[in-house]
Amino acid sequence: MNKKLLLSSILTLVSAQLFLGNAAQAHQEQAFAIAIHGGAGTINRNKMTDEKRLAYETKLKQARDAGYALLAKGKSSQAAVIAAIQILEDSPLFNAGKGAVYTFEGEHELDASIMNGKTLNAGAVSGVKTVKSPIALAEKVMEKSVHVMLSGEGADTFAKQQGLASVENSYFDTDARYQSLLRAKKKLAEKEKELKDFQAAHQTLANEYKYGTVGAVALDKSGTLTAGTSTGGMTAKRFGRIGDAPIIGAGTYANNDSCAVSATGHGEYFIRYHVAADICARMQYQGISLEKAADVVINDVLVEAGGSGGIIAIDPAGNITMPFNSTGMYRASKSSTGEEFVGIFKDD
Ligand code: ASP
Repeated sequence: MNKKLLLSSILTLVSAQLFLGNAAQAHQEQAFAIAIHGGAGTINRNKMTDEKRLAYETKLKQARDAGYALLAKGKSSQAAVIAAIQILEDSPLFNAGKGAVYTFEGEHELDASIMNGKTLNAGAVSGVKTVKSPIALAEKVMEKSVHVMLSGEGADTFAKQQGLASVENSYFDTDARYQSLLRAKKKLAEKEKELKDFQAAHQTLANEYKYGTVGAVALDKSGTLTAGTSTGGMTAKRFGRIGDAPIIGAGTYANNDSCAVSATGHGEYFIRYHVAADICARMQYQGISLEKAADVVINDVLVEAGGSGGIIAIDPAGNITMPFNSTGMYRASKSSTGEEFVGIFKDD
């Protein structure tokens, strides 16, 4: 072998090794990330004092960082989503768990769901009244039942059987939400008198009565996506109304081939437009980015339909997008690339 040939063989070998080394490193360094939301809606900037903003942002960061810490330790995206959501459920600031809105009858009926993007397993609960953590119950439904969705008393009984903490319905009470129910009922009574129809009157309720909800999406070191959502639904909801949050494909969806999404907003529109699954399907079938798919659904499709709200979403590469067409959406994210965010309004 002449010298030139020998040198070129050595160079080829070295570059091949470098390539393999980088590939192995890239494999080890699978991106991981989490995004969370605490609801979208008519968040009034003038009423957002520095103190209030600090309280919301501190809680959002706490929830996000708890989920992120689990991901950094190599735990699953499912564990991260549950941990983040439970912190928000336990906080009276958000419309989920403690601090959930009231039904027309003055109770709390909670909805939640979770989906694993690798197995496409999912669990959901609707109209539950006594399980302390509806998202934990959704996870039990996914893992310990042969069903995808359980509702009402049966779901609460299943929660007890599974050993989950149960509370009196009044545990979810807060004065702020009660005052909101009283205002909503007053407006409903006035409108019902005028329109002679409860449903038409309900349609006129301002957005401030319609939103809240918490959710999380995450990508773990194994490349698995998970999405979860938990809510008290809509103030003064009646007749067993169920929103989009526990409906797989509407308020929650995850698929490792495309993305994971958790939604918040006017649930009826999110159900009819199948928002979470539509974003993932557009990515998969149209070959467009997560950001583009989510933007079209939230800012074109839903705006045209008259449905307000937003979503958080993540793809298998760890890209995160959090579009909303309402005045604000409580949200936060953190990823292994070093990016982190917490904010409420569009210009945050
Ligand atoms: N989407 C929820 C529902 O309609 C409410 C919300 O996100 O605030 O029940």
